[in-house]
Amino acid sequence: MRVLVTGGAGFIGSHLCDALLDAGREVTALDDLSTGSVVNLTAALARPGCKFIQGDIRDALLVERAMENCDAVVHLAARIGLRIIVDSPFDTLDVNARGTECVVQAALKKKTPVLVISTSEVYGHSTKIPSSENDPICFGSPTIGRWSYACAKAYDEFYSLALQRERGLPVVVVRLFNTVGARQSGRYGMVLPRLTAQALSGEPLTVYGDGTQSRCFCSVRDVTTALMTILLRFDDLSGEVFNIGNPIEMTILDLAKEIVERTASKSTIGFVPFSDAYPAGFEEIMRRVPDISKARQAISFEPKVPLEEILDEVVEGLRSSARR
Ligand code: UDP
Repeated sequence: MRVLVTGGAGFIGSHLCDALLDAGREVTALDDLSTGSVVNLTAALARPGCKFIQGDIRDALLVERAMENCDAVVHLAARIGLRIIVDSPFDTLDVNARGTECVVQAALKKKTPVLVISTSEVYGHSTKIPSSENDPICFGSPTIGRWSYACAKAYDEFYSLALQRERGLPVVVVRLFNTVGARQSGRYGMVLPRLTAQALSGEPLTVYGDGTQSRCFCSVRDVTTALMTILLRFDDLSGEVFNIGNPIEMTILDLAKEIVERTASKSTIGFVPFSDAYPAGFEEIMRRVPDISKARQAISFEPKVPLEEILDEVVEGLRSSARR
């Protein structure tokens, strides 16, 4: 089995490439290196069966060629990171919507199964906690740049599920909740690596607002396990949407305290008003919690890696990249 991983040089994509190679699969990683890096693929590219192509998912011919001889596609490539999204909603929409159209249209030619990676961001301002796959999606006004990401990702879901129903393309959609681990960059948002890097360098930790907003953090290792299981189960899962995340909820202030303690840092915790943290075009989501009962039932998904272990891996990752 050869798998095309779009966004394969990114944080989640590169971990997935490693896991696929571990399982004896061959991998083609396609990435435009906008936020990903070939450094993430150093170990994978040293192994037989791994190929890297640099390119844009909006380049239909390139995507078709990358998909040749592949038995499945995991579509992770996207503009990500709140900073990038708020600064460039057009690019976010163009890459995340038109790029996904190119990927699923290329897959349609030979009906290659596609695992479409979507996001918990589509639940947006929904007040029903935890969020379940069949809940209405709920995002804010198009005048607020943040929502370009949720809107494009929701469109991707509609588009690929429609091709599944009307054209017989095997599609599974996964909505990832906050996914964390080594290789994740804090440069474009991403609170956990950002605060951990601050703790390691002794700078104050930047908690936005009063820190009472909450998230649920799931190890990238648990996420890749789920994606691998789904890849082997396309026959019975096609047409389904799954939440994948860790249902343990914590406030950002508690996360900051945990990071300071785990890293034995001398850093203080500072509070930054949202208006200073983000340019216009930002709206905070106060709570985001997955209901994972569907994934538990269908693929026996159970997050296993505790936060302490995740933090140790992030610290080790940051230290080793500082040594390079
Ligand atoms: N956040 C923070 N300090 C930072 C970066 C982010 O307090 O330096 C907060 C942010 O306001 C949000 C949460 O951490 O409430 C998660 O932010 P992230 O950008 O990681 O992802 P989101 O879940 O918002 O997409």
